[in-house]
Amino acid sequence: MKRRNFIKFSAISGATIAISGYSNSLFARKKPNSLITSGYLPRIISTWNHGMAANNEAWKIIESNGAALDAVEKGVRITESDPSNRSVGIGGLPDAKGNVTLDACIMDHKFNCGSVSFLQNIENPISVARKVMEQTPHVMLSGKGAYDFAIEKGFKHKDLLTNEAKLAWEKWKEEAKKEKPIINNENHDTIGLLAIDKKGNLSGACTTSGWAYKLHGRVGDSPIIGAGLYVDNEIGAACATGLGEAVIRICGSHTVVELMRQGHSPENACKIAVERIIKAHDNLEGLQVGFIALNKKGEYGAYSVYSGFNFAVKDVKQNTMINAKYEMDW
Ligand code: ASP
Repeated sequence: MKRRNFIKFSAISGATIAISGYSNSLFARKKPNSLITSGYLPRIISTWNHGMAANNEAWKIIESNGAALDAVEKGVRITESDPSNRSVGIGGLPDAKGNVTLDACIMDHKFNCGSVSFLQNIENPISVARKVMEQTPHVMLSGKGAYDFAIEKGFKHKDLLTNEAKLAWEKWKEEAKKEKPIINNENHDTIGLLAIDKKGNLSGACTTSGWAYKLHGRVGDSPIIGAGLYVDNEIGAACATGLGEAVIRICGSHTVVELMRQGHSPENACKIAVERIIKAHDNLEGLQVGFIALNKKGEYGAYSVYSGFNFAVKDVKQNTMINAKYEMDW
């Protein structure tokens, strides 16, 4: 099953190329006229195949001299509003009790951040997270409080459990698969999107319906600043996907950014964070985690525990899926 997924990921991304450190020297040679670029800027990277559509939407903002913050929000809203996506927003697989509960966070280039966790019945949690950031003195709102805040701010109540997700949940219940579901499948993948705009400012967004059939009330890494996402505009940005519990244990995204601060390339920073996760866990069965990172120069990288993680890159030269390097085959 796990192996099949990897093969599927590889097949889907026909244009996929293997990343080997930075393959970016190409971009430094010629600056296209249509955009003001500096080094590798501007650039967007995001997790998994759904990142392509999100990147395209985010690029519209970046291209018209917009801010990375607007770009990351607009980008991931596309994934949240896609009912065919089983791991983010509407259409996301529910928890064990059949409730779709969403986690999301956003962070800008000035350490401003906002987050919502365990949010139900709101289609675009990322925009609620942004409102928390901009219109409250807090960083995180959760559950009913987050929902009430969203309604107060004009968001509409919506049933997020699609028929397809409901059927999948009912099947899961019937089969009594009460054990840990496999994390690295097509139905369970956070969108994390990082952007650096033409001014060289970084921002990030991360949003998910989390671990399918999780215990009611479970919150993963994705709404936790420093775990699912971190941005330090002096250094770079990172975000995570995969088993949130493992990411939280090592403050994953913050760790990646701190490693870049120490001089590591984005890819190497992600690799060291992955190694730390591996060291912190005795049982690695099903423990997939992937990180993506983007530094202040616009250089990018990614790394995962197991094979099968891919990410989308958009800049003036390319819009492509890349298979991340990894520590182990399934
Ligand atoms: N990190 C998410 C969580 O644990 C899920 C994922 O990215 O697959 O909720």
